[in-house]
Amino acid sequence: MKTRVRYAPSPTGLQHIGGIRTALFNCLYARATGGTFALRLEDTDRTRCDDAFVKNLYDTFDWLGFRWDEGPDVGGAFAPYVQSERSALYQRYARELLDKGAAYRCFCSGERLEAVRKEREAAKSPLTGYDRQCRSLKAEEAEARANAGESHTIRLKIPLGERTVFHDALLGDVEWKNDDVNPDPVLLKSDGFPTYHLANIVDDHLMEITHVLRAQEWLSSTPLHIILYRVFGWEPPVFCHLPMVMGQDGKKLSKRHGATSIDEFRKGGYLPDALLNYVALLGASYEEGREIWTLDDLAKRFSLDKINKAPAVFDYRKLAWFNAEYIKAAGNEELAVRALPFALDAGLFGGAGRPPDSGQKALFVNAMPLVKERAALLTEIPAKLAYLFAAPPVPDKQEFIPKKGSIEDARVSLERALPLVAALATGDDAGAEVLVKAACEKSAVKIGDFLMPLRVAITGSRVSPPLFGSMRLLGADECAARIKRALESC
Ligand code: GLU
Repeated sequence: MKTRVRYAPSPTGLQHIGGIRTALFNCLYARATGGTFALRLEDTDRTRCDDAFVKNLYDTFDWLGFRWDEGPDVGGAFAPYVQSERSALYQRYARELLDKGAAYRCFCSGERLEAVRKEREAAKSPLTGYDRQCRSLKAEEAEARANAGESHTIRLKIPLGERTVFHDALLGDVEWKNDDVNPDPVLLKSDGFPTYHLANIVDDHLMEITHVLRAQEWLSSTPLHIILYRVFGWEPPVFCHLPMVMGQDGKKLSKRHGATSIDEFRKGGYLPDALLNYVALLGASYEEGREIWTLDDLAKRFSLDKINKAPAVFDYRKLAWFNAEYIKAAGNEELAVRALPFALDAGLFGGAGRPPDSGQKALFVNAMPLVKERAALLTEIPAKLAYLFAAPPVPDKQEFIPKKGSIEDARVSLERALPLVAALATGDDAGAEVLVKAACEKSAVKIGDFLMPLRVAITGSRVSPPLFGSMRLLGADECAARIKRALESC
């Protein structure tokens, strides 16, 4: 049987780490098994769903660069993939359960349900949820009231006094007493919209989903889903509830720990591949000692037995390490494209939002090798390269003074550097080192003491990307002008 999996988000919030982990594991599982990965929008909660979150979903996955085989935007044999476009279907299946006597109509008003809740609370009763009052209504009476237009919901008649057992691919056998399952949950609301439970099961069945890999927070809903499969007479898919993602304090990852929405990571200067690589390791182990993976590599190895039972811990420092590794390995053009939005925001090309002219664009690409080894986040790149796009203010005299030297030593070094500029700005690193070494030997100056004032003159700072590479990008004339300006103030 061909594997069919799905990511079924409700557009009620921004895409976050847990969501993309679920999407990624499903996608990897489909790729690993030659199956199909579908996107389904579960937008049945009309009060909480928002188009802005749908847009965020598409933007996030465009940015991450991985896609589904079937979904609202690409279509597929099981369309529509948006639940709000499938209402008639759920109504039909709710009706089927009514006819089978597996569901019943409930006419309790919101006020009554609230009164029951309060009463129990006051009595410190352990009972929660619906008190099943309408379960005993005669079907004909209920039908007549419904036909007369009385507002009602349709509830599942949980078979009481029985047990529900299912096998989770990760957690093993899970057993629940039906009496402990959510008492007769609503399947169809009074507005004709289904609840999550009904729509989810109907769609997984109709879309021929074979495996449901989803967050562990859904585990408590699964007995209810199994009951629904049973009353419909359908075969349930294989369930695999993924390990929780925790913060370092062992609590469920949340805003308290730091960024969780993918937007925040994107704006924080992370590369999509680095984020995906890290997320792929949250709760799964592929090969001892190996951390860097492409999705293609993972797709070849992914299987349910690679998933860990233990919760995953989200480590922001580790993610930054991954990002630094991906920045190092990125091609210059690609890195420049990724870093460009941050450079625009920082006003690197002559003002916030101002795009680079063709010279600046080329310079930006060519400057990437200078920062690759030094940036963990794309956000750090513009500030590190600012001196290439505008001459930095000449720093205070003190800044030019080499270790254990004087301002006089700095002056002498700068003067000696001036005639070397043409060669330094055109050669390569090895040639530049030979030249500088010879100049230092002649004047008995330590190389570091010679280079420090030069670095400050060229880059405006004692700590900077590689000096010779910077000089080559700036060109001999600009370098000479910067040294002369420095000499004027030393
Ligand atoms: N719509 C649910 C969610 O937002 C889907 C849960 C499931 O995968 O069954 O996560």
